[in-house]
Amino acid sequence: MKTPFLTKEKAEEIISKYKTPFHIYDEKGICGNAKEFIDSFSWNKGFREYFAVKATPNPYILNLLKSLGCGVDCSSLTELMLVKELGFSGDEIMFSSNETPDEEFILAKQLGAIINLDDITLIPYLKKACGIPKKICLRYNPGGDFKINNTIMGNPSDAKYGLTRAQLSEAIKILKEEGVEEFGIHSFLASNTLTNDYYPTLAKVIFSAVKELTEEFNVKFTFVNLSGGVGIPYLPDAPKNDIKIISENVKKVYDEILASNGITPAIYTELGRYMLAPFGGLVTTAIHEKHIYKEYIGVDASAANLMRPAIYGAYHHITVLGKENEECNHTYDIVGSLCENSDKFAIDRKLPKIEIGDILFIHDTGAHGYSMGYNYNGKLRSAEIILQPNGEFKLIRRAETPSDYFATLDIYPEFEKYNKKK
Ligand SMILES: *Cc1c(COP(=O)(O)O)cnc(C)c1O
Repeated sequence: MKTPFLTKEKAEEIISKYKTPFHIYDEKGICGNAKEFIDSFSWNKGFREYFAVKATPNPYILNLLKSLGCGVDCSSLTELMLVKELGFSGDEIMFSSNETPDEEFILAKQLGAIINLDDITLIPYLKKACGIPKKICLRYNPGGDFKINNTIMGNPSDAKYGLTRAQLSEAIKILKEEGVEEFGIHSFLASNTLTNDYYPTLAKVIFSAVKELTEEFNVKFTFVNLSGGVGIPYLPDAPKNDIKIISENVKKVYDEILASNGITPAIYTELGRYMLAPFGGLVTTAIHEKHIYKEYIGVDASAANLMRPAIYGAYHHITVLGKENEECNHTYDIVGSLCENSDKFAIDRKLPKIEIGDILFIHDTGAHGYSMGYNYNGKLRSAEIILQPNGEFKLIRRAETPSDYFATLDIYPEFEKYNKKK
């Protein structure tokens, strides 16, 4: 069973101030989970989680994670600008981009961020753009199939990211000559994994490469970045990853391959989903019902607020607030208003009988939820609200207004009126 962190009473109190739809986040849940996660890796000196900004690029949330000791993982110019304004700098920023424009490298270098190179050709490109820093990270793509216990979890050879093993050697040789003193390595081989074996299996692949490269080139690897990919159970009966077991098993491979050979890099992670997804929900109101070949409930949110079901067919659990204990004896498609038949939050979902005006809580939208939103059909992005540990709520991003939608049309005199400051 999945229980929302939001009650119907609290939702109604919030809605009297901010109308639906909105994304809401649970501060207590975010902090508790982050502390537990960081604590589980305390065996590793220098361990740090670099929260993947793209998952939830909100200043309040980034500050919350900062106060717990997290860094940030950025991949674009505006993400770098965002974290700069929040006071992140130097080693607190990982810049893991690909197909990177030079202006992004320039800002990353100015901020002292750790630059993670996605390709060998980026070495001369970076050198020309802003010079090679003393510390650098390389993204590794081992190719082939990525298997965990004989199950194929991903196909690195089809992925656009990273350097081949041979290129890693070549890159290290070049970078050493360019004066690089500290190396890091990064690899991301499977997404939303629901197995305790993902990080340990990935760690084995990366640690082996680190050992070989250290011995081959006599260079110092000061960190290994296991990146993102630890998943969460979107389905109510799916098993949850056990972060303690994951960490213990990463430690086993670390001791066996690295520490026993005198190599002791810090471990970094770059999780987005695991840190935030369960602690966010999309709150939306049922505004229409329709009875044709199927039963539909139309809500005031759409795929523009949460894209995952439309693009991946992703499952997001739905609770009708106040009807948590009612029998799920109706079958509905829960749909948004886009002129796209993929705009369905749920298909053939068993739910209690829904009345117009019921408030629906769409679970697990805390990561890759709001941030993947878009303006198709002229739909506006929603607000983001945080539920604080004392039960109070706070607006952490206002909803878009038509002025925001028309902002880029301010080159036309007809649209100037929309851009007058309120
Ligand atoms: C998206 C991404 C992450 C975060 O992935 P999650 O699935 O949210 O954990 C981390 N690192 C990089 C480079 C990414 O692109």
